[in-house]
Amino acid sequence: MIDANEVADRVAHVRSVISSAGGNAVSLVAVTKSFGIDALRAAMTAGCDAVGENYAQELLEKIAEGAPSIDVHFIGALQSNKVRMLVGHIALWQSVDRDSVVDELGRRAPGATILIQVDTTGEPSKGGVTPTQLDALRVRAESRGLIVKGLMTIGPTDGTQDECEKSFGMLRHLVNEQGLSVCSMGMSADYPIAVACGSTMVRVGSGLFGDRVRVTN
Ligand SMILES: *Cc1c(COP(=O)(O)O)cnc(C)c1O
Repeated sequence: MIDANEVADRVAHVRSVISSAGGNAVSLVAVTKSFGIDALRAAMTAGCDAVGENYAQELLEKIAEGAPSIDVHFIGALQSNKVRMLVGHIALWQSVDRDSVVDELGRRAPGATILIQVDTTGEPSKGGVTPTQLDALRVRAESRGLIVKGLMTIGPTDGTQDECEKSFGMLRHLVNEQGLSVCSMGMSADYPIAVACGSTMVRVGSGLFGDRVRVTN
């Protein structure tokens, strides 16, 4: 059960940590995967900028229950067969990392706003294009009428401060090089480092709602 007052306190805490880390106008995306509709409501009431969801089916179930009016960002592994289910519900597609998804979004959601996910750690479980593949995917997305607003990355799992800075520094550099505005990086464990490295959008889940129930391991 989600305690909306506790979520509001944690949101205030995260915002104060962001500002201590030098963040200015950093968007806070509340990651609500594995939590119910009450988490989305609590995030909205607490003034989060958006919620982030990872699983198409799970999101549709929540919407069927009457999702609150807060922007939903899709942040999970994205295959082209998921796009059709999700179109109409997503304000920002954060995890675009392949041609097939770009092509399907271009067909089903022309004009959609996206981030391109970049692999900045080389960890096999993480998605994202390599920095050298970035230009081509951006050109392809724009040629299909998508609006590329920025880049997203997932930092190292259990990374040291140095490893996090390397990953986030790489994304920030690419965002600058590409002349983009959104730099989505930082999760519960590492958002202060991400903000210090120039994040404009953090994605925080367990830091707001507590531990997720693990469905897989
Ligand atoms: C789950 C998830 C998050 C939030 O992770 P926490 O550690 O709970 O803050 C952020 N970004 C992505 C892409 C995720 O999958």
